[in-house]
Amino acid sequence: MKKFSVAIIGAGPAGYFAAQALQNMQTEDLSFSIDMFEKLPTPWGLVRSGVAPDHPKIKSVSKVFEKIATTEGFRFFGNVELGKDISLDELQNNYDAVVIAVGASKGKKLGIPGEDLPGSISSAEFVPWYNGHPDYANFQFPLDCETAVVIGAGNVAMDVARMLSLDPHELDTTDTADHALAALHSSEIRTVHLCARRGPEHAAFTSPELRELPKLHKTSVLINKEEIEAAQSRIDDSVDSESVTNLTAMLAIAVDQKPQQERQLQFHFLLTPKEITGTDRVEEIVFTVNKVQDGSVIATDETVRIKCGLVITAIGYETNLATDLQFSGTHLQNTDGHIKENLYVVGWAKRGPSGVIGTNKSDSTEVMKILAANLSEPKLVTDFIESLDAKNTKYVLQSDWQKINQAEIQAGEQSNRPRVKIVDRDKLLSFRDA
Ligand code: NAP
Repeated sequence: MKKFSVAIIGAGPAGYFAAQALQNMQTEDLSFSIDMFEKLPTPWGLVRSGVAPDHPKIKSVSKVFEKIATTEGFRFFGNVELGKDISLDELQNNYDAVVIAVGASKGKKLGIPGEDLPGSISSAEFVPWYNGHPDYANFQFPLDCETAVVIGAGNVAMDVARMLSLDPHELDTTDTADHALAALHSSEIRTVHLCARRGPEHAAFTSPELRELPKLHKTSVLINKEEIEAAQSRIDDSVDSESVTNLTAMLAIAVDQKPQQERQLQFHFLLTPKEITGTDRVEEIVFTVNKVQDGSVIATDETVRIKCGLVITAIGYETNLATDLQFSGTHLQNTDGHIKENLYVVGWAKRGPSGVIGTNKSDSTEVMKILAANLSEPKLVTDFIESLDAKNTKYVLQSDWQKINQAEIQAGEQSNRPRVKIVDRDKLLSFRDA
């Protein structure tokens, strides 16, 4: 019987699915002991701090994660940060293999004038804020304006625009962080413009997300019918079926517009951000108007301006990891998930910020097959956790997390919410001794 030790860094979907793949490979002759390290005191990555609170069904995958975490041979160590509490070298020397699964948490920048004005922020700040990520709980965003602009045409832009434009009472029975719920209730934003740089046929939204927009109780969703019909007339065989379905979903919204509501979410296409202006804070955003010509999106001489007090970019993410490893664009350089020696990478840190949660299952499984095939003899080393204990690292074990989880769920029961998230790091850590 060969027993290999694997360290996984990051407790998000890609990390859990990597662990599951290893667990599924176990036989009478082969087993894995898996240690998962996570910088937050809590696990589940984007399932906890990324998925929109009004999408509770997507979060049910956390049950799968808990099953993986309570399978023999798996240990969770929260509040342990790579580069601070542990190093890649240490892990590579102490484990048979090391898997980086840290995702991509840094928002990409537009690179236009005015982007650093107060009131110009990234979804990489806004999303973890409303989801109760401890590092973002104290952020303050200017919701004291009538109009907000969201840049991007992906599902994150859609989440952000929906969270800003819905009636906050629709969030009262969700796990939106308390501080965000209070701020959204007193928000003065009534109009949200979602602006895409290409045409409706190029939007990266997925159609289930579009189809749920008409269900917003107190929000008019405005899409220009002529714009969608023009896009439909442009599409050819090069356009994938998802885009065709998207256009159908957008047209359905455009033709069946609800009577004017107090809140509005308006879609715009073919607008490239050019400049954000304002004296002490965001006051306006200027766009170059584009057109589609022979299948390509090209700029015109025309510009449009939208007065607003908040601009949120949702234009993709980059892996945020301070190491001397090489990057390839937004993610770590790798060959099918292998970086070098006994070091591997999965998820967004491997392929960039794309795909839904389930995409990580097949992706992580493929990388773990390669990892397993490269193993020969297990290293004979002492338990790495002894070195964490020697440094008095305050790690959070699975049993501690279960206490946190239980406390959050119990707090939620009183207010008919799935949970009330604990966002204070010290409070989360206090469960270690409870
Ligand atoms: P995304 O799907 O890649 O969308 C990014 C958007 O930003 C695209 O519309 C892109 O336009 C635009 N963009 C990029 N650079 C830009 C620039 N400089 N100026 C203006 N626009 C720019 O990324 P995402 O929305 O961050 O989502 C990441 C992944 O998570 C996706 O696979 C998404 O489906 C998934 N996700 C899923 C859900 C869900 O299932 N409900 C929720 C959230 C996220 P171009 O196409 O023109 O480049």
